Amino acid sequence: MKCALVGQDGAVVHAERHPTGAERGPVAVVDTILDVAQGLVERARAAGRTPVACGIGVPGLVDQSAGVAVWSANLGLRQVPLRELVHARTGLPTALGHDVRLGGLAESRLGAGRGVGHVLFVAVGTGIAAAHLVGGSATAGAHGAAGELGHILVRPDGPRCGCGRPGCLEAVASASAIGRRYTALARSAAHSPGDLDVPARPGGGAAIPRTADVSLGGATFSAAEVADRAAAGEALAGQVWREAVGALADGLATAQALFDVEAMVIGGGLARAGARLFDPLRSALRERITFHREPRLVAAALGDEAGCLGAALLALDILERP
Ligand SMILES: [Zn+2]
Repeated sequence: MKCALVGQDGAVVHAERHPTGAERGPVAVVDTILDVAQGLVERARAAGRTPVACGIGVPGLVDQSAGVAVWSANLGLRQVPLRELVHARTGLPTALGHDVRLGGLAESRLGAGRGVGHVLFVAVGTGIAAAHLVGGSATAGAHGAAGELGHILVRPDGPRCGCGRPGCLEAVASASAIGRRYTALARSAAHSPGDLDVPARPGGGAAIPRTADVSLGGATFSAAEVADRAAAGEALAGQVWREAVGALADGLATAQALFDVEAMVIGGGLARAGARLFDPLRSALRERITFHREPRLVAAALGDEAGCLGAALLALDILERP
């Protein structure tokens, strides 16, 4: 959990992090959220500040207008009236939002989308999700489920997604999917060497051999390692990386057809690959765009604190527009 005291100007006054401890079950997770919120309120008062509102962001399905965390697989939350619980504990006006939409809110007002009217924020990490922001406000959809870009169909014959359907974008192009795909191909290539460049065991030094090392053992690779290996000229990594970038470009081209934004702000773990991601992604997107205008592709600026900052901005919003 990323937590902060944030000034009315969006400046972080104090930040702290706590383990979510989802394995303890949803009741304990909610207790921790309430304890941390109360702790921040007390900390602010002890420093002579006056906390005016509280903002909370959670992943999954969020009914922002009702203040209910409807469903969150990672946290085990089901129909939790989190806004009311936090309000009861802290006594402060409280807002509840969706983590990716809050990240987009912060990027569009304070980060890489600042000054841009129409922005799509796309978080590419263990999954893929997006937020569409117009004039600094995110649309949540009729059921709180807008922006699930990770679950558009891009490869009907592709790997099965966590949602149960084969071929979703996040089953092909998320950071986890890239790592999984490369690991699987490297293992099978290691067992039948000769056809492909095969990677060496990870952590073995800076040089990346271009020939087979069949002793992969149980190694699993991260997307960052795949990007490094692709940049170093390893054929298998290059293939996996190009396939993922192509699928991501398919997803973004679809999003552009739907939303016609000026800028797409790409965040999440995969964006840390920098030019290794953005250069080929920009070209692939350009190839796919016909009559739509090409959006600017920019890296997110606020890192993994974006959602936390966005929660503060949403809390300030409800003071102005209760
Ligand atoms: Zn899916």
